Amino acid sequence: MPVSIAVIGAGPSGFYSAEALIKSGLDCRIDFIEGLPTPFGLIRGGVAPDHQSTKRVVRAYERTALNEHVGYYGNVQVGRDISLEVVRRLYDAVVVAIGAPLDRALEIPGGDKRGVYGSAAFVGWYNGHPDHRDLHPDLNCESISVIGHGNVGLDIARVLVKTAGEMEDSDLPDYAARAIHGGPIRDVHLFGRRGPLEAKFTNVELRELMHLRDCVPVTGLTPIPTSIPADADLSPRDRRLKEKNLATFRDFAGLAPSGKAKRMHFDFYSRPVEVLGGDRVEGLRLERTHLEGETAVGCGEFFDIPCGVVVAAIGTRVKPLPGLPFDARRGVIVNRKGRVGKGLYVVGWAKRGPSGVIGSNKPDADLVASHICEDFPQGRKAGRAGLEDALDEAGADWVTYEDWQAIEAAEIDAAGPCAPRKKLIRIRDMLAVLEASSKTQEEPSESHFNHT
Ligand code: NAP
Repeated sequence: MPVSIAVIGAGPSGFYSAEALIKSGLDCRIDFIEGLPTPFGLIRGGVAPDHQSTKRVVRAYERTALNEHVGYYGNVQVGRDISLEVVRRLYDAVVVAIGAPLDRALEIPGGDKRGVYGSAAFVGWYNGHPDHRDLHPDLNCESISVIGHGNVGLDIARVLVKTAGEMEDSDLPDYAARAIHGGPIRDVHLFGRRGPLEAKFTNVELRELMHLRDCVPVTGLTPIPTSIPADADLSPRDRRLKEKNLATFRDFAGLAPSGKAKRMHFDFYSRPVEVLGGDRVEGLRLERTHLEGETAVGCGEFFDIPCGVVVAAIGTRVKPLPGLPFDARRGVIVNRKGRVGKGLYVVGWAKRGPSGVIGSNKPDADLVASHICEDFPQGRKAGRAGLEDALDEAGADWVTYEDWQAIEAAEIDAAGPCAPRKKLIRIRDMLAVLEASSKTQEEPSESHFNHT
């Protein structure tokens, strides 16, 4: 009997796990159980809408999804439509690939004011994620502060300063385009509590900023080092990457005055200590820092930046699921090299926290696939048939991969001349497309793409 495997979550780490299992040669049947009707997790809902080339990786995922031994059950939330306990009872092995979708709280006074957002929610909003579509950030302000010197902070800052023309070939939803391009945004501050050497940006993303149409990157008064100390504890690769970043920061300083209207400020050695304002954000108070070893320590010197919005891009954590041991400090599922319990495994950000690029999920997936091959030379449980019965019994409205393809086709059809797709951003609208396509063509179907 084939080994039955459920993969909870159809993002990159889930797809790499399925791919590794298929490549392993194990006689198995793999079913994705995904909370949204749409697959691809962070590729659809996290990767910036203007980075469409990064999203092309889904072509490989698609090949996996269309494999004859792979099934897809979208719009099924474990914990709502079916419990983890039941999934474990039905399948020989369960791979948890649920990512780290919750924001880490900005734990400073005023961190809960109106106008303070976490990066997961904010990115989800401009990416048309159904959970965040109703965030409605008020971007009617000239200055925005983004906390965190990582790629997510950089993505957010870039999306906020690009022109409508620069976003023309993206899949930014209309409501987000209106809020971003209809507002008076002029200055976006990116605050890092450490220095230029410690910033976690990747160089391609940083260099991209030199070519923005209406925005210049500026590094302010912080001197950018010309070299990295010989005794710095860095691998040769990391040293090369950091040298490139330093060179790019120096290039920013050398940019000629351009007449561009917007500025993206890189503010180093600045840690947020308080969000200022009444009910809603009016500014951010920061403290200058210096490094003691790797740690940023406050110098006791404070300064204020007026801003109408604060976005904390300081990392994310797992959404705890009943039945999974959760490490609240690290925000991950407790595991030993991907093993969580008997027949239960974890991969990706849910396993190791939010780090690395998309491909960094492959080694986790390979490891868990090898555990499963070792633990289950043969299958004993029925898997899919039991799942469908349980979902029918729960009245779940599950979506197949073919259904997703119909949703995708509708999104592509609705897109403007340059855009790759016009995302459906409400689950009910996705299901309505399926409903409409299952009916005869007798009556004209209603548009689900209003995005108001
Ligand atoms: P990240 O790279 O870990 O950066 C988080 C930033 O937040 C760091 O600068 C960190 O400072 C700062 N921070 C954390 N806690 C803080 C606090 N309490 N107060 C002030 N600052 C704080 O995380 P990320 O930007 O969320 O990205 C997650 C992963 O996705 C990364 O591996 C990233 O490279 C990847 N990603 C890649 C791309 C791409 O390749 N284009 C795009 C998006 C995301 P310290 O360094 O001092 O801790």
